[in-house]
Amino acid sequence: MLSNSLVTFNEVMRWFNDLLNLFFPKVCQACGQSLLEQEKVMCFSCLYKLPKTSYHLHDENPVSRVFWGRADIYAASSFLFFSKGGKVQHLIHSLKYKGQQETGVYLGKLFGLDLLQSDLFKDVDLVVPVPLHPKKQNERGFNQSDCIAEGLGEAMNIPVVVDNLVRKVHTSSQTKKSRNSRWDNVKDVFALLDPTAFENKHILLVDDVLTTGATLESCAQTLLKIPGTKVNVATLAYAQV
Ligand SMILES: [Zn+2]
Repeated sequence: MLSNSLVTFNEVMRWFNDLLNLFFPKVCQACGQSLLEQEKVMCFSCLYKLPKTSYHLHDENPVSRVFWGRADIYAASSFLFFSKGGKVQHLIHSLKYKGQQETGVYLGKLFGLDLLQSDLFKDVDLVVPVPLHPKKQNERGFNQSDCIAEGLGEAMNIPVVVDNLVRKVHTSSQTKKSRNSRWDNVKDVFALLDPTAFENKHILLVDDVLTTGATLESCAQTLLKIPGTKVNVATLAYAQV
């Protein structure tokens, strides 16, 4: 039957694609609507209405203020405002809990293009994602901050380093120490495998959502112990606490 009709290979492929979309439609990771063929990750409507902070254009902003008196951060920004039940929460959820790593890379790229417009961010040498606890990374299968960092690095044309800053795995012997030394351990959660590799580097430290900033502060302090480092902080979303 097929040979008698004038069906081309492309038509068959389009038909197959339509059928695939019928059963597994690609949906906007922010609003859940079906995506058009030319849309990726998000529908155009959600893309244009992203609640951007534009904090990267301001030396002093609510995100940089989070770190005042806690870590000597050169510049800090978050890409989007996070609100409970809002579209940004859906995007973060898609990345973290639905395994949509593409969402993180895509948003990282958009963020990176914005950061290039800022004098505070354009001299960054490398991107470093906040490491996830190894147990958590095993459960999830990936680190969501790695995905965001990948997009940032690509847009800004700078390398991403995922294997130098690491989260220490606590041993049982540490839990037997005194309360005071245990507190020291909590403060020293992160470590560098090769500190010399980061000497005199301007580092862009990346995480998914900024809340209290405790984790980022701890990472930044570890990085700032290395001679000559400058640390910028960038998170995908900012949740006011
Ligand atoms: Zn949408």
